Formats: sequence, C-alpha cells, structure tokens
Amino acid sequence: MTQFKTLDDMPQEIGGKRVLVRVDLNVPMADGVVTDRTRIERVVPTISELSRRGGKVILLAHFGRPKGKVVEEMSLSPVAQALEEELDHRVDFASDCIGEAAKKEIDEMTSGDVLLLENTRFHPGEEKNDPDLAKAMAANGDMYVNDAFSAAHRAHASTEGLAWLLPAYAGRSMQAELEALEKGLGAPAKPVVAIVGGAKVSTKIDLLQNLVKKVDALVIGGGMANTFLAAKGVEVGKSLCEHDLADTANAIMSEAASAGCAIVLPVDGVVAREFKAGADSETVDIENVPADAMILDAGPATVEKINGWIDHAATLVWNGPLGAFEIEPFDAATVAAARFAAEQTVAGKLVSVAGGGDTVAALNHAGVADKFTYVSTAGGAFLEWMEGKELPGVAALSA
Ligand code: ADP
Ligand code: MG
Repeated sequence: MTQFKTLDDMPQEIGGKRVLVRVDLNVPMADGVVTDRTRIERVVPTISELSRRGGKVILLAHFGRPKGKVVEEMSLSPVAQALEEELDHRVDFASDCIGEAAKKEIDEMTSGDVLLLENTRFHPGEEKNDPDLAKAMAANGDMYVNDAFSAAHRAHASTEGLAWLLPAYAGRSMQAELEALEKGLGAPAKPVVAIVGGAKVSTKIDLLQNLVKKVDALVIGGGMANTFLAAKGVEVGKSLCEHDLADTANAIMSEAASAGCAIVLPVDGVVAREFKAGADSETVDIENVPADAMILDAGPATVEKINGWIDHAATLVWNGPLGAFEIEPFDAATVAAARFAAEQTVAGKLVSVAGGGDTVAALNHAGVADKFTYVSTAGGAFLEWMEGKELPGVAALSA
C-alpha cells in the first residue's frame, strides 16, 4: 500500500495555520434540507481535531453534478447548517471556493474557526484537474488534508492537483478507510475469501481478475453467477445471463486455477417465473433450472457451502448481493451469509470488509452492517480499490 501521512505526522503546533480540508459532503438533500447525515458524521472527527489544535479549518467539497457552472440548487450553503449542528461549532460559509469571496472570509478567521467554501464543481477546472484552479485553492492554505476517500478515485483539482502543492495528510476518516482496506486485501490474514455478487459480470471484470490473483477462494453469486454457470454448460433458463461473456468467464476461471484460487459457484437456486415480491418460487438443483424460470437467489445448499468458506476464512471481502435481495423472498441467501459473517466477526474469528451501494443496503437489510469489521460507503472508490487500482487522491498523500 502507498504509505501516507496522517494528522499524527502534522506539526503538533498548528495555531493560526490555514488548513484546507477536502471532505465528502455530497449528502442526500430534499427541498434544501439534508435528509441523511451519515457523511457529515464521518468528517466530524477530523474537523473537530484540527479546530481543537488551533487550525483555521477551511472545507472544500463538491455537491452534485453542476458541470462547471454555478447552479443555485447545488449550493453547499444548506449543508453548512447541518454541519454546524453535528460539529456543535459555528460554521461560516463563503460563496466561492477561490478568489475574493473566499479570501475575504479566510482573512477574518481566527484559530479554531471553521469555514465551508462553496461547491468546487462550480468551476470547470475542478473535474479537469486544472493546475490554475489547484493553485488558486492552494493560495488559501498552509497545509492540506484529504478526508474524502469516496472521491479519491478521481484526479480532480481539490482531490489530487491541490495535494501536490501543499504538505498533505490523510484525515481520520480517510485513515480509517485505508487501514481497513489494508486489512482486507493489502496485507490480510489468510485464508482470504472474497464474495462477489450483483447483477452483471460486465461491470466487474477488472475486479474478478484482480481478486483471483489475491484471494484463496472467490465465491461468485447473484446474477453474475449465471454467466459463469452458462459458460460451464449449465442451462440457466430465463435467468439474467451475459452469454456473450462466456469466454471472459472461462478465462477468469482458468486464471483462478493457475493462481490456486478456488472458484465457488451456486449448486442450487431459488427460481421464479416473475420478478416481483411474493412470486411463486421453488428451490432447484442448479442442473434442474426449468427453461421458463429465472434464478433469483442462491439456494440453501449454496448458502451452506458459502458459510463453510466463511468459517474457514480469516479475512472476508464482500461486494455484491447473492440474489435479488430487494424483493422477498429472494433476500434469504444474502441475509443468511451476511448474518453468519457478522457472527464470526463478533466472535473474533473473522476480519470482514464490505462495500458497494447495494451491498451496504443489503447488510443494513440483514441488520448486520455495524457488526462487520468495516463497511465502506465509498461506492466507486471502493470498487476501484477492489480492482487493485491506485487511487490518485491517495497516491497524492504518499509519505
Ligand atoms: P453493489 O452496488 O453493491 O456493487 P451491484 O450493483 O453489482 O452491487 O448488484 C446489485 C444488484 O444485483 C441488485 O439490484 C440485485 O437485485 C441484483 N441481483 C443480484 N442477484 C440477481 C439475480 N439472480 N438476478 C437478477 N438480479 C440480481
Ligand atoms: Mg449497485
């Protein structure tokens, strides 16, 4: 893993220093009110610590996709208020992230103050990683902290360009994420088992190829398992299946064989004729899927097999549900495996790291998200990390 600097490497005396902090404040909002404060809660420790240490804390963040123009509805100003409540500390707001508007507010700051700057994506240079924009941002700071892992897969001015212009450090939330990911795939306790599920192989080819080189067993579930089964000649009926990716699936299976990674595929499935809640369903052996039916979940024998691998594992990395978990009863396999992994984790027998939009929703649905070692809410950045890619925002924090 890239070695990175943290707030512990920062000079202890930061009284009066201007600290630019990149945070993720891309929160769900309705009618100008923040409806979910999870992301705000995650950046509180870093902001509080820097403020307590006497820094002038200047926050940079994006919101939505204004595409380089000022879009009133995508102003961060309503977020300042929610942040103020979570921090229990006054938060001022500047109507631009660079230039006179920012400078005027920053000049008025004293030690410990917190200021939120307007949406970085109001400038076209943000997503283009324009060096001039990064320089204009750097002019307002003495040091830089990145606490937004979820934006670290993008080389943007505020996430990457700026980091090279000032002494740069990982914030507490970024640090926690990187340390958890290191335990998951960087230097994991062995054996390592990965579960990859979800809808399609096509969105996860890079991820599967990276995992077979790193893990001892790869469990393939969800809709994408059908593509692998079909590639092996199993009839999958009307199931979601990318028949055109048979060669890709076979290549991944042979790479796994030469790397000594076991591939674990479903041995039974829950099938239905309709994709809706409470649809008539039955469990069949994977060899006996009716031609007019769809596999919508893994069956109990498959769950038993997966739990056997979880039992054997010291580390579990998980992305993608084992079935169409949004619709009952097709959530059963995902819920059962998630609960078993949670149990093993709580018992101290397993390090469990999971991530992905639907995966987080599935673990919440199973009621176990807080029992896993770490659940990443980072989405795209988490997937790119699972693909083994270097994240530009993290590379720029290298020690
Ligand atoms: P994540 O967002 O965690 O990366 P994905 O987006 O890859 O996960 O996959 C989640 C989707 O996969 C869910 O919408 C789920 O309904 C779907 N899915 C899982 N198994 C099946 C299946 N057997 N048939 C159809 N869709 C499935
Ligand atoms: Mg998804």
